[in-house]
Amino acid sequence: MSSPEPLTRLVRLLARLPGVGEKTAARFALHFCLENAELAGALAAELEHLHERVGPCARCNNLAERDQDGALLCGVCRDSRRDAALLCIVAKVQDLVAVERSGAMRGRYFVLGKLLSPLDGIGPEALPLAALAARIEQDRVSEVIIATPPSVDGEATALLLARELTAQGVRVTRIASGVPHGGDLEFADQITLGRAIDGRRSL
Ligand SMILES: [Zn+2]
Repeated sequence: MSSPEPLTRLVRLLARLPGVGEKTAARFALHFCLENAELAGALAAELEHLHERVGPCARCNNLAERDQDGALLCGVCRDSRRDAALLCIVAKVQDLVAVERSGAMRGRYFVLGKLLSPLDGIGPEALPLAALAARIEQDRVSEVIIATPPSVDGEATALLLARELTAQGVRVTRIASGVPHGGDLEFADQITLGRAIDGRRSL
């Protein structure tokens, strides 16, 4: 049985989304075609301009909405009630979202974007260490909480950061091992992650 070509293309695109298999993609595509033309239009309009409107925060790499002057500053960096002297380092935006959800972080963030991974050829030079050092200097950060995941790459990155940042004269702590080894912060529950932050230890 053959589907119209545009429908097949839509299914192929949707199936590339995380957590969406071929069957779910087909269900979504049929829903757009048969039942919800309005949703399809609204979604298309939103997606078309998404990358113009949203981009990485100039200070922390979190996602931010572009303002009228074209500048990108995220909600956390705009929030003056945040403690600028406390900086939490995470691997990716999804982890920042998870830490925020725990409610245990009153400081600000720095998103690395990647982790050390010697096997994949990702060495220290691939990490934004200069930008991080500049940020610490500018904001007079006194404590850095390293919240990279408890995986081999996450631990290797934490050790490298601890060495670099301690040399810069900052107190460096690591989130406690409440998050299971090899686990993903993104999928840790709020209470576990909140405890992991409260129970951080010096490196
Ligand atoms: Zn930011």
